[in-house]
Amino acid sequence: AKQIRPLIAGNWKMNGLKSALAEATAIRDALTTDPGAPEVMICPPATLLAPLADLTQGSPLAVGAQDCHAAPSGAHTGDISAEMLRDTGATAVIVGHSERRADHGEIDRIVLGKATAAHRAGLTAIVCIGETRGQREAGLTLDVVGRQLAASLPEGAGDTNTVVAYEPVWAIGTGLTPSNDDVAEVHALIRRDLEARFGAAGSRIRILYGGSVKPTNARELLALPNVNGALVGGASLKAADFLAIVRATA
Ligand code: PEP
Repeated sequence: AKQIRPLIAGNWKMNGLKSALAEATAIRDALTTDPGAPEVMICPPATLLAPLADLTQGSPLAVGAQDCHAAPSGAHTGDISAEMLRDTGATAVIVGHSERRADHGEIDRIVLGKATAAHRAGLTAIVCIGETRGQREAGLTLDVVGRQLAASLPEGAGDTNTVVAYEPVWAIGTGLTPSNDDVAEVHALIRRDLEARFGAAGSRIRILYGGSVKPTNARELLALPNVNGALVGGASLKAADFLAIVRATA
């Protein structure tokens, strides 16, 4: 298979005041422009998108947002459109994170609308899917992930505008991770479904693993088949931890 450039993306969630830009600056300054290096991205809270985009302009550190509204503009108080995110200098947006699915009732149809909006605005959609603990214990993991994938990805998805992040809900922020075999099994299912639906582009769409990725477990997770990078929460808040995970792709 053709080599896929890994992506290590940090999701800061609702963390980070202006003072946190120093961590992002440290990450930026440690990255090389070597095309063999992984792509690296920080997804800060919306309040830091514009300053972070300014700080990273012309550098190898990319900037992504954590959510968008489906509409380009309009009467949606408090929401931010994909076009507005693009206007800050962001190049990607996470959609369908399990915390938004849980906190804001974002079902697949809503996630699909947000991913479609991302594409419309010229952003890469990082589409998150993953089973809950109850679903895993009931043996429903592959059914749930397959259904979320089918229902959350727009028709126009391809390797240049879409990344899939497999994040088992029970592994997020818990220090727990699935076994290597379990991660590989789910990623193989996602790859098969992407190829069936999108053909050659589907074989190149990056599939990230997310859920308690740390410097200590990153190397083995990133070496698994069809794991093309990581979406990192807690360990992306400190430059040293995040950079250790970036280096684990080598
Ligand atoms: C996430 O929220 O995307 C995530 C993977 O969090 P953590 O790394 O903290 O488990």
